Amino acid sequence: MFDSLSGRLTGVFDRLRQRGTLGEADVTEALREVRLAMLDADVALPVVKDFTAKVRERALGAEVLSAISPGQQVAKIVNDVLVEQLGGAGAVPLNLAATAPVPVLMVGLQGSGKTTTSGKIALRLASRERKKVLLASLDTQRPAAQLQLAQLAERAKVASLPIVAGQTPTQIAERAMETGRREGYDVVILDTAGRLSIDAALMDEVRAIRDITRPAETLLVVDAMTGQDAVQTARAFNEAVGVTGIVMTRMDGDSRGGAALSMRQVTGAPIKLTGSGEKLEALEEFHPERIAGRILG
Ligand code: GDP
Repeated sequence: MFDSLSGRLTGVFDRLRQRGTLGEADVTEALREVRLAMLDADVALPVVKDFTAKVRERALGAEVLSAISPGQQVAKIVNDVLVEQLGGAGAVPLNLAATAPVPVLMVGLQGSGKTTTSGKIALRLASRERKKVLLASLDTQRPAAQLQLAQLAERAKVASLPIVAGQTPTQIAERAMETGRREGYDVVILDTAGRLSIDAALMDEVRAIRDITRPAETLLVVDAMTGQDAVQTARAFNEAVGVTGIVMTRMDGDSRGGAALSMRQVTGAPIKLTGSGEKLEALEEFHPERIAGRILG
């Protein structure tokens, strides 16, 4: 991972004479390699430019350390800045610090893995944190959606809101919160309807649900495999409803994960969790340093 970029940078510096500090020409040449690696990993061009400018600033004039080569030193700066931009070394936990039942709103496009992720989060909260979780599907668009969530709830051994035919998404949201209060749930996970593309009706609906439930977390679920499209999705949802955290699914695929960096920049919201498979257990905390390694290739 980071070794291979380090190798490429060392190659660059082997061709240059070592001086007391990292010179402008050295850094420029090294950053050309970094730019290629990042574009390869599907990081958006403006984000790459912004990123390389930060690395340049830090690298220029940095004392050359005798223990490592200048190439390794730039590679380390690149890695450090990337980890910082991805949100620092640690994973950001879900924020459930609100009066119970704490509403968690799941948003995203259809097929992003939203329903599966709702089930995964429910399982995690119930099994690791002993929370009493209620899953509620507000998807009245797809006939099977509410049933799919009920089946996931069964697999996760958590409760799901009984299905009542004919209710609108906002009516279901109200009923979910009422049930949550009445039956003493800690967390209510609200799985909203997705669409194949972003449209005004979807955003209006999500906004209405948000206003009714006032979620502690609004988690955007995006498919890592969709690359730059995922970034557009993130921008649209963030502008329309305000995203507090991102879950990137399909990290088990072969995407390099560059969208993670762009999404973080575009929304300002941390990536909190990643999905790495179809099983309910396949949910992990987001580790910036792992993604940094993957992006650098
Ligand atoms: P939704 O339309 O956004 O609710 O998407 P679903 O939750 O129904 O997921 C769509 C498909 O993606 C299903 O077949 C899931 O099993 C699959 N899926 C969800 N998350 C992941 C993941 O992290 N990795 C993989 N490989 N598949 C996933």
